[in-house]
Amino acid sequence: MKVRTRFAPSPTGYLHIGSVRTALYAWLYARHHGGEYFLRIEDTDRERSTQEAVDAIIHGLDWLGLTADAPPIFQTQRFDRYREIIDRLLASGHAYRCYCTREELDAMRAEAQARGEKPRYDGRCRAGGRERADVAPTVRFKTPLEGETVVDDLVKGRIVFDNAELDDLVIARSDGTPTYNFTVVVDDMDMRITHVIRGDDHVNNTPRQINIFRALGAEPPAYAHLPMIHGPDGTKLSKRHGAVNVLEYRQMGYLPSAMLNYLARLGWSHGDQEIFTLDELIRLFDLDRVSRSAASFDPMKLLWVNQQHILRTPTAELVPLLAEQLERRGLDPADGPPLERTVEALRERSQTMAEMAERAHCYYQEFEAFDEKAAEKHLVPAAREVLEALKAALAAVPDWSEKPLEDAVAGVAERLGLKLGKVAQPLRVAVTGQAASPGIGTTLVLVGRERTLARIDRALGRIAG
Ligand code: GLU
Repeated sequence: MKVRTRFAPSPTGYLHIGSVRTALYAWLYARHHGGEYFLRIEDTDRERSTQEAVDAIIHGLDWLGLTADAPPIFQTQRFDRYREIIDRLLASGHAYRCYCTREELDAMRAEAQARGEKPRYDGRCRAGGRERADVAPTVRFKTPLEGETVVDDLVKGRIVFDNAELDDLVIARSDGTPTYNFTVVVDDMDMRITHVIRGDDHVNNTPRQINIFRALGAEPPAYAHLPMIHGPDGTKLSKRHGAVNVLEYRQMGYLPSAMLNYLARLGWSHGDQEIFTLDELIRLFDLDRVSRSAASFDPMKLLWVNQQHILRTPTAELVPLLAEQLERRGLDPADGPPLERTVEALRERSQTMAEMAERAHCYYQEFEAFDEKAAEKHLVPAAREVLEALKAALAAVPDWSEKPLEDAVAGVAERLGLKLGKVAQPLRVAVTGQAASPGIGTTLVLVGRERTLARIDRALGRIAG
């Protein structure tokens, strides 16, 4: 049997990182078992579904590389099929038309509540004979009255539901549109899904779905319900805890590989290993190591994982990400040193690609202002002589590369009888505006000859007041 999984988001907002984890587990499970993974857009709720949300889902999954093995399936394109199956269930006696009015249903609910019971449909239309011309009927599924429905959940273990607890759910509204639990079954059946991997907010839907599968003479898939993700305060992860829209993480300069690594570990483990390549995740992931308890989202750990991935990712792969971040800041990546150089100089100091771009700003554009603290400390009158000597020495360096530039700076220090720091630090502040940057030779290479000489003048101007 070939494993077939799916991710079935409802397009009602941005793509939440919790949903991404669900998609990732379904994707990894399929890849690990040499199976296939599909995307299904559950857009039957036309009021809440938007094209923008569909785009955000596709864009987000694309960014992360969670590719599907076929184009996405849209539920709104399958209404004919749903109608066909509803007719089939009616014909086989597994479903019936319900003519109860809203008032009747409300009264039924009130009575159950008055008795202290869970509100449930009492099955009064089940036997038929209640047809009336003035009511457009719904269609209800005939849930078995007795027995149990067992879910052998691949994460949670065995869960037993009493069929008597499940009432006859509506599968088609009075306007003929199908309902959620029903469309899921028809789709999972038609897509020949073998493993449904989804959030555990769907656990209570599962026995209903299994019963519909059986009524259709189809074998239900295996189910794996994933525990929730909590924020650091133990409540369900939401915007209050920070960014939850996956595309915001792209903007913040997180690497797709780091997001996948972190989200994989959020509820799954392999010993105490923290850093995984995607190939390792595919090789190692399985459902038996998924935790049964809620996972806790830790933004500081995600940041650390991101930094680890920046350190391990080949320069050539980071270059386009840096370019994207520079452009986002209105900078021209071509108006400065080759991006490879910048990546190599800054990767050890950057936790995100956004931070790298921030640090790189002064290599691609004039910086606006000196960091005041750094300037007050280093661009003092005594630095004038130093900067003038540096300007002359650097202007005379024939080959604008690290070693000769470092030698020139060291030469100035020696001539003036100063420690290297006393010379390099004013120079650093002069050419970057900041007190911290890579080694002085590297920094000068990144800033470039023309900008270096002009910025020394700018710093001298400031000292002159
Ligand atoms: N559309 C459902 C959701 O977004 C998922 C249904 C499922 O995975 O079965 O929660």
